[in-house]
Amino acid sequence: MNATRRIALILTAVFLIPVLFFSAYEISSLSRDEKMIESIYQKQLEAILFSINQYSDDLIGNWVARTENLLMSENLQAGGRELMMVNTPLKLIFSYPLQSESGRSKFIYLDTAFFLSHEPEFAARVAAQQEEIARLVKYKKSGFQKTAVLPLSDSLRTAYLGLMFVTEDETGQSITGFILDPEAFVEDLMGPRLQQISENQFLLSVTHKSDQRQIYSTQLRDSTSSIILQKDLWLIPDYSIGIGPLGTSLSKIVRERTTTNLILLLGMAVVLLVAVFLAFRSVRQEVQLAQNKAEFVSNVSHEIRTPLALISMFAETLEMGRVPTEEKKKEYYSILHKETQRLTAIVNKILNFSQTEAGKKTLHPERLNLTKEVHEILYTYDFHLKNKGFTYEFQAREEAWVMADQAALTEVIINLIDNAIKYSPENRRIELTTGTDGKKGYLAVRDFGVGISRADQKHIFDKFYRVSTGNLAKASGTGLGLSLVKQLLEQQNGQISVYSDVGKGSTFTIYLPLAT
Ligand code: ADP
Repeated sequence: MNATRRIALILTAVFLIPVLFFSAYEISSLSRDEKMIESIYQKQLEAILFSINQYSDDLIGNWVARTENLLMSENLQAGGRELMMVNTPLKLIFSYPLQSESGRSKFIYLDTAFFLSHEPEFAARVAAQQEEIARLVKYKKSGFQKTAVLPLSDSLRTAYLGLMFVTEDETGQSITGFILDPEAFVEDLMGPRLQQISENQFLLSVTHKSDQRQIYSTQLRDSTSSIILQKDLWLIPDYSIGIGPLGTSLSKIVRERTTTNLILLLGMAVVLLVAVFLAFRSVRQEVQLAQNKAEFVSNVSHEIRTPLALISMFAETLEMGRVPTEEKKKEYYSILHKETQRLTAIVNKILNFSQTEAGKKTLHPERLNLTKEVHEILYTYDFHLKNKGFTYEFQAREEAWVMADQAALTEVIINLIDNAIKYSPENRRIELTTGTDGKKGYLAVRDFGVGISRADQKHIFDKFYRVSTGNLAKASGTGLGLSLVKQLLEQQNGQISVYSDVGKGSTFTIYLPLAT
């Protein structure tokens, strides 16, 4: 066992620990990879939103440039109306001179009645933005055309957005601006661009920030749920734009990928574990075999020594002429004969085994009546069995004609009966049964002896294996019998099985193919 434990330790150290470490490392790096992918994806989404903001900035920038030109031209009103007609979200263009004495306010609008009523309000709002205007002027001076939001009264700001910027004409600087409908702006002007970007890969939607109302979406159904990133719209601060993947969400893809990788990794670990287990098992078997062999040598030596000692002792006594009576002499001769037979039996068994194992023994299966064979063996063994104090019972349930080699079959049966005798120290009874189970003919040899534990049952058919616990070790043997039996049976398509209870006895059943 010590050797086996050492092998287990080595295998664990060489294979298992590295594999487990590697798996753990891979699993941890997997989640790291996923995080990196997610952050790259996040950056990409941010870039898309940035470009959308840039685009809406450009749209307004274009209006600003055109308005600047119009202010300097003769046909301000006509040109302004045309600009508004083409860009319906644009509702009003206003322009207040920065120095009131230098010029007069200008208005261009389509919906006269509504905006006329609000004219004073716009003037007041603009006047209230002195600080912001000062900033715009400063930018303008440095050559930047900046646009700023003009805060509107609460009633107006639900539907409109004010923008302002600084313009210059021959009369001087003015604060010019637009009143526009932001939702129409998003829908009519940004919409086509959003569709183009979305390309059925992303979901883009614009939401009113305070009440989370979706005012635009590139997808028909309401699918705010897959929005994974939201940014403010630069120009329209009350609204935000959101983006998300369409169909399978990134987290789902990532999760699926992680799962597949994990499964692969676990699969690999399992395969390795199985491989290590198999390697361990085969090494253990080899170690066991080596141990059994060593035991075999010492067993056999012991087995041979006893008859040899007896033979030498009785032969010497006879030689010296120290035996008084003819009767005693006869008894000694018979002992000599018996012990030589025992020696021969051992040597034959070993030879038989080595020949069978090497495949040197060819069997000649023929049609045999199993019941008849058993009867004949029992007839020969009757004296031996009774002499040892055994009673036996043979029950032939059916005529069983099988295909078997006669000599091999006899050897098998004798081995089983011998074992039954050897391992039944007290309850000396043997029951034999023959019959068929439809496909095979069988013979069961049952004894009421010491029995075999479950753990040992797995090994008793291994070569050299002997149960070595308790007083069992006292029964003489080589550990070759059952292994030989099994080999002989398998060579003629037969099988052997064992059923045993420790202390109650064992039943060995052999099966042979039925003769047709
Ligand atoms: P051997 O009998 O020479 O030891 P076998 O190969 O015939 O070798 O048997 C292997 C082992 O199986 C034996 O050592 C014995 O412990 C056990 N065994 C075999 N037959 C029986 C039986 N009828 N009852 C109990 N144990 C048995």
